[in-house]
Amino acid sequence: MQLHARRQLAAESIFSRMSRLAAVHGAVNLGQGFPAGSPPEFLLEAARSALGTADQYTAPLGSPALRQALADDLAVNADDVVITCGATEALHVLADALYGAGDEVLMFEPVFDVYRPQAALSGAAPVLVPMTLDMSSGSGQWTPDLDALEALVTPRTRALLLNSPHNPTGHVFTRAELERVAALARRHDLWLISDEVYDELYYGERPLSLRTLAPERTFTVGSAGKRLEATGWRVGWIVTPPGLAPEVAGLHQWATFCAPAPLQAAVAAALPVARQHGLYGQLRQAYGDRMRLLAAGLRDLGLAVQEPGGTYFLTALAPGLDPFALVEHGGVAVIPGSAFYAEGAAPAGLIRLAFCKPESEIERALQRLGAFLKA
Ligand code: GLN
Repeated sequence: MQLHARRQLAAESIFSRMSRLAAVHGAVNLGQGFPAGSPPEFLLEAARSALGTADQYTAPLGSPALRQALADDLAVNADDVVITCGATEALHVLADALYGAGDEVLMFEPVFDVYRPQAALSGAAPVLVPMTLDMSSGSGQWTPDLDALEALVTPRTRALLLNSPHNPTGHVFTRAELERVAALARRHDLWLISDEVYDELYYGERPLSLRTLAPERTFTVGSAGKRLEATGWRVGWIVTPPGLAPEVAGLHQWATFCAPAPLQAAVAAALPVARQHGLYGQLRQAYGDRMRLLAAGLRDLGLAVQEPGGTYFLTALAPGLDPFALVEHGGVAVIPGSAFYAEGAAPAGLIRLAFCKPESEIERALQRLGAFLKA
């Protein structure tokens, strides 16, 4: 007996693989993006007091308190909020809800690893739109190729999946870029899925939410794990166009029914506190410092570094570097750029590094990388 042909999509993800190899070889892990420290104490305290009081199912739409907390935070209507088991499940539910066999889904390449398999699981074909790496500025600048986007729309195109701030490049889509995307979606009557899990992690201009430009067709995806430094909690959300939340939640109920109730309660309590305490500003400050430390160190080693406008990742060009040899013999885990591209399409030597790690670890990684490159 064999599993269904979909098992072809079951290979270990590059993030799991690199974290596993980092553990096996005692490497500094700048691969998978998760914070090194603990979540804020006010979040943990809220979870402790939720255990024993919020232990049974919530509605598939999510707990009313969390939906309201998000409505207040995002300036949206609570009726349009659906709570999911992390942003990954949110994207999965949207794939179920929005497209199927014979449809095409546009997404930018380099592409975050879950987008392509999720589209394929729904029966749709992912269509990759290039982001170009322009090296004329010296260190390199990522730009979405919106002319290519226009050219790739076909009668089968159903949706465009966008990620801003963008993983892995850190590109924050500009207002002009988003306006062009929104206009194109209107012209061709496409759904828009906007993965905004890094919405509060930016180092320059504040990211604009695509929803504000095309509210009638945009599904926004967000993540408590990313905002509150608790990626294992698996609490995410979708903001739907008006009136569509019940059906989206109706599909989510067949996957997980609801996200963990005590964690929903804790996130509901923590979201306003995070604002009052200025948590996101503190994270931007801390991660911005670490980003500059890592970028400067990589430049000292002779690498071209593309500084991100958001996320906790940066990309760099290290021609000839084999990330699998580096993790095994050099003691540093990074993500090979090829993981975000169709076979053979990645720029030579592209790597992604996570800087949501302590400064001491970033410094150790730089020393080890320097020694490895010299050897
Ligand atoms: N978003 C994280 C990253 O890009 C981890 C994703 C995952 O492992 N599911 O590294």
